Amino acid sequence: RLSPDEIKALVRTVPDFPVPGIQFRDITTVIGHPRALASSVHHLADMAREGGAEDIAGMEARGFIFGAAVSIALGTGFIPVRKPGKLPVEVIGVEYDLEYGKDRLEMDPGAIRPGQKVSIVDDLIATGGTALAAIELLRRAGAVVEQALFVIDLPDLGGARRLREAGVDVRTLMEFE
Ligand code: 5GP
Repeated sequence: RLSPDEIKALVRTVPDFPVPGIQFRDITTVIGHPRALASSVHHLADMAREGGAEDIAGMEARGFIFGAAVSIALGTGFIPVRKPGKLPVEVIGVEYDLEYGKDRLEMDPGAIRPGQKVSIVDDLIATGGTALAAIELLRRAGAVVEQALFVIDLPDLGGARRLREAGVDVRTLMEFE
């Protein structure tokens, strides 16, 4: 199993993407490495197990890659939190601010058993807007959300702090300034 530091060395930094001035932390190079993908998932799954996760929710699209794999490692189901217009049933939705732009997330409220303990998984937390939107949706659907797991934290953008203020334990594999 690769350590978080060894996985961190595989993250590719792309300057000025998607807009000038942003240093994009690209996980394509992590998931393209067989041991780095598996190691990332095992580290996240250990954290989810410690947090008592009964189900895993992941945010479209990179959260699906890590989140679905964590749910397989834990033996739980997986709840997709989706971009608008993708689900074939009546959804609940929330608008949120991105680090760059605006977006909306939707989910099937029937995906949750009331009181079910759900941990969320995504590749990266920046401002926390995406994660807070997902947490709001899951809580509206009746889930208990007390843990959020990310491969990468950008602590300078304050997202992890915002989630902790919302009563969510945040665990990440690595930080980039
Ligand atoms: P936030 O909502 O916390 O500001 O931004 C996090 C969301 O945007 C995540 O869903 C993440 O996939 C995406 N994101 C923002 N910045 C980056 C980045 O530098 N690298 C990657 N891989 N995703 C990012």
